[in-house]
Amino acid sequence: METILSLKNLDKKYGKVHAVNNLSFDIQKGNVYGILGPNGSGKSTTLGIILNVVNRTAGEFSWFDGKLSTHEALKKVGAIIERPNFYPYMTATQNLSLICKIKGTSTDKIDEKLKVVNLYERRNSKFRTYSLGMKQRLAIASALLNDPEILILDEPTNGLDPQGIHEIRQIIKKIAANGTTILLASHLLDEVEKVCSHVVVIRKGIKLYSGRVDEMTASNGLFELKVDKNEDNLLKLLKNHEAILNVTKDHETIIATLRNSISATEMNSFLFEKGFVLSHLVKRKPSLEQQFLDLTKNN
Ligand code: ADP
Ligand code: MG
Repeated sequence: METILSLKNLDKKYGKVHAVNNLSFDIQKGNVYGILGPNGSGKSTTLGIILNVVNRTAGEFSWFDGKLSTHEALKKVGAIIERPNFYPYMTATQNLSLICKIKGTSTDKIDEKLKVVNLYERRNSKFRTYSLGMKQRLAIASALLNDPEILILDEPTNGLDPQGIHEIRQIIKKIAANGTTILLASHLLDEVEKVCSHVVVIRKGIKLYSGRVDEMTASNGLFELKVDKNEDNLLKLLKNHEAILNVTKDHETIIATLRNSISATEMNSFLFEKGFVLSHLVKRKPSLEQQFLDLTKNN
């Protein structure tokens, strides 16, 4: 696997604020990464550091296995980390042409990139007539002009209406499907769930989880159980079961969270053999949302 970016023990302090705290993770080619965390958790600061617009306090990061200087590497990166500035009285095509001129790159790709972000039909409309979603899509087109290896987006759907949010997410998926690696920062769990294959969860600059989104979703889950009689004995038995991590009660329902994966059928027959006839048995997986809330709650 090709490593696009590697962060090692990255640290950033703004005076007393420890914005990024000993953060390490790797980005492999072809995946879609989300940095997920509540507002103020250090997402933008992290992106700023790797893009050389924020100075780190300590730690290391290296692009493309350290084969290139950061300056050279950043030529292969497309990034939008603040609201882009385009000229309101110029069209989409004119704005992108100007960017190519400033960067000294060819204008050949403009139409292709406008098509990627579904703005080709509106290419001759002035920027000031664009909706917020269209403006954001034009920013994505501009970040794609140099065919970057990786596209970096900070809160790409902030401030957009539901339709605009949907369009941006579809476009991000399309860009990823074409083989471009993506790193996006978001405070929205469902955004990461919908768009990303991998996630780094951070809170107060500290990494709480990193890995595949689907593995985060597929923890071992829990059972809900009820019995009409003999509840105390059932609780005892569950607490001593090796597959069960923890047993609590929620009103009349017993909640048994699992250490190991065990099916409802196995659990049901085990309990029946021990003389318990359940009036209720459901296996649930905690939602990613619940896990995110558990991971990010104060502790
Ligand atoms: P996020 O993008 O996750 O919302 P940020 O990286 O913007 O988080 O901020 C992380 C922390 O660093 C916050 O406490 C924020 O107030 C602080 N911070 C960010 N930028 C600056 C700055 N330029 N000067 C001082 N503090 C900052
Ligand atoms: Mg931010």
